[in-house]
Amino acid sequence: MASATPVRVRFCPSPTGNPHVGLVRTALFNWAFARHHGGTLVFRIEDTDAARDSEESYEQLLDSMRWLGFDWDEGPEIGGPHAPYRQSQRMDVYQDVARKLLEAGHAYHCYCTAAELEERRDAARAAGKPSGYDGKCRVVSPEQRAAYEAEGRASIVRFRMPDETITFTDLVRGELTFTPENVPDYGIVRANGAPLYTLVNPVDDALMEITHVLRGEDLLSSTPRQIALYKALIELGVAKEIPAFGHLPYVMGEGNKKLSKRDPQASLNLYRERGFLPEGLLNYLSLLGWSFSADQDVFTIPEMVAKFDLADVNANPARFDLKKAESINADHIRLLDAKAFADACAPWLRAPHANWAPEAFDQAAWEAIAPYAQTRVTVLSDITANVDFLFLDEPVEDEASWAKAMKEGSDALLRTARAKLAAADWNADAIKAAVVEAGEEHGLKLGKAQAPVRVAVTGRTVGLPLFESLEILGRERTLARVDAALAKLTA
Ligand code: GLU
Ligand code: ZN
Repeated sequence: MASATPVRVRFCPSPTGNPHVGLVRTALFNWAFARHHGGTLVFRIEDTDAARDSEESYEQLLDSMRWLGFDWDEGPEIGGPHAPYRQSQRMDVYQDVARKLLEAGHAYHCYCTAAELEERRDAARAAGKPSGYDGKCRVVSPEQRAAYEAEGRASIVRFRMPDETITFTDLVRGELTFTPENVPDYGIVRANGAPLYTLVNPVDDALMEITHVLRGEDLLSSTPRQIALYKALIELGVAKEIPAFGHLPYVMGEGNKKLSKRDPQASLNLYRERGFLPEGLLNYLSLLGWSFSADQDVFTIPEMVAKFDLADVNANPARFDLKKAESINADHIRLLDAKAFADACAPWLRAPHANWAPEAFDQAAWEAIAPYAQTRVTVLSDITANVDFLFLDEPVEDEASWAKAMKEGSDALLRTARAKLAAADWNADAIKAAVVEAGEEHGLKLGKAQAPVRVAVTGRTVGLPLFESLEILGRERTLARVDAALAKLTA
């Protein structure tokens, strides 16, 4: 399939609602394919459905693309030789093509009403026949047309499918064949003159000289229609060549059902808000239908681009596995250098995520603790619970932690620990020695001795390495918190 034609792919979402992970996977595969081949990524906005599209969703799409780190070579905000790239601004183009298709007999006016179509569909079903459009208006006599129009009937424009079998080689699925009875004539322009996806999508692919159409399996049934339309467009001089098609496998969610756009687990915003790194999320999403190698599933995005090949895309449905997504994200967090990690966490350390006053945030303390946190967090939003003890006036109150750590004798242990901490050098080793000694005096191993200290100081039974944490918190605040816990224990 080596070809001298430069690769031109497209990502062409409709701005309806929040972007979802299926859409991101499609964008990623197109982007990686373009970058791998030194080709062009065309970003096109399919906003011909005024009832469903919104400006807000459009802005969100652009913002999401930038957050994910995708760049495009032609499209919104940068323009290009086929501008405009918003379909709502290309209506005259579609009208012109629809007119040419009608004139050449590749399309015709269909006057059937919704009720008539339904009636004939039900009858065909009952007779066990194909239930798609039956071609009734393929031939309408001038008298009949006049009668329909006198009745005030509206008409849609329908594309006339050739009566032939359509075969193409899907880049993911291999050879596929569609027989004419399974692909009936279909609408391309609404009665009100609005062009439909069925027209505008292939027309723009043709005009924008797209070489490879990579999209979800849900669109597979439109491919034979589009190939037929392409043939007509080539005849009319509108298109040059039929592109190659590749359909990416379904993404399955809970209970082995297709992950739907409306599934909360599918929302890109959810992953952003939890603090997935774009590279962690993309690494995971790339594995939905593709594999990097048999024994490695954590890699950088440049590594992915270098290796990305459609030959490794699998046709089988891929299962969305949140645990795996989190684990891969955690690996990417470990891979950041210290400064990048500290910077990535910054939004969570400030309002609205943080539960401490903005002025309580202390950059030096944060930079000191950050390396310990970097090995622990799965998503960036985990950071607040790990470091809040540094920025809150008093540690969080967590009943369960308190009950678990504060046992009979904890007050005596804390009193001893307090005395030793008051006298210790203030570094992690000396702090540890003080807690070890306090434990020994009470016949407690380190694990048991440090639990009440940890809860007194951080409020929680689990957290970052304790002695380093106390060192960073400082002696004064540590002792004040131990005193407060003692007061509470003996109250
Ligand atoms: N706007 C269409 C969608 O978002 C594009 C489908 C395609 O890639 O052909 O579903
Ligand atoms: Zn009709």
